[in-house]
Amino acid sequence: MSDDDLSLRTSIIEACLEMTASGLTTGTSGNLSVRSGRDMLITPSATPYLSMTPDMIARMPLAGDGAWTGPRPPSTEWRFHLDILNARSEIGAVVHAHPTHATALAVARMEIPACHYMVAAFGGSTVRCAGYARYGSADLSALVLDALRDRTACLLANHGAIALGDTLDKAMWRMTELETLARQFVVARQAGEPVILSDAEIAETLAAFADYGLKS
Ligand code: 13P
Ligand code: ZN
Repeated sequence: MSDDDLSLRTSIIEACLEMTASGLTTGTSGNLSVRSGRDMLITPSATPYLSMTPDMIARMPLAGDGAWTGPRPPSTEWRFHLDILNARSEIGAVVHAHPTHATALAVARMEIPACHYMVAAFGGSTVRCAGYARYGSADLSALVLDALRDRTACLLANHGAIALGDTLDKAMWRMTELETLARQFVVARQAGEPVILSDAEIAETLAAFADYGLKS
């Protein structure tokens, strides 16, 4: 294993531990992938994050159809990780988790509207909710790719959420912001009738974000 490979694998484990510590996910739910040349590195399936070691992370060619190397099988969600990295050349990392508030909205099959200007951090005036298909399926991957059009996050009906970034740090930052936005929207609905920002107000925020370091 080269030094670069080891440091990428170590950063994946650190992100997994951060997801657990911050409550973004519990148990072995969720998974992460990072682009590595013509391959992706992806977390192993059903492996507790606390006992994950760098060698356990699977490697899968982006041009393949699920063939992998590693001591453990890759995440059952390898299909949408692979399809996203192939479809979106600007994306370097994919984070999937089951954060409580984002997942609650996904259970209600609701998208997140422009209830806060931070919705623009995900590329537009909504975070869409992908329709339901069984976890790990090619059907789920197709629904996810559609929900991610011009966006860097989506909800997954009755399941959880996905956040993307050019780097793993950015994808993790986005997953944290997504759960915060979801929590704010859920609480705002309890407090009263949320006022939704207009497309023009979100367009203005998107333009401002262009100078704020919030790209892919
Ligand atoms: P894996 O443990 O196979 O990554 O599955 C967890 C998950 O969240 C499935 O959607
Ligand atoms: Zn999941």
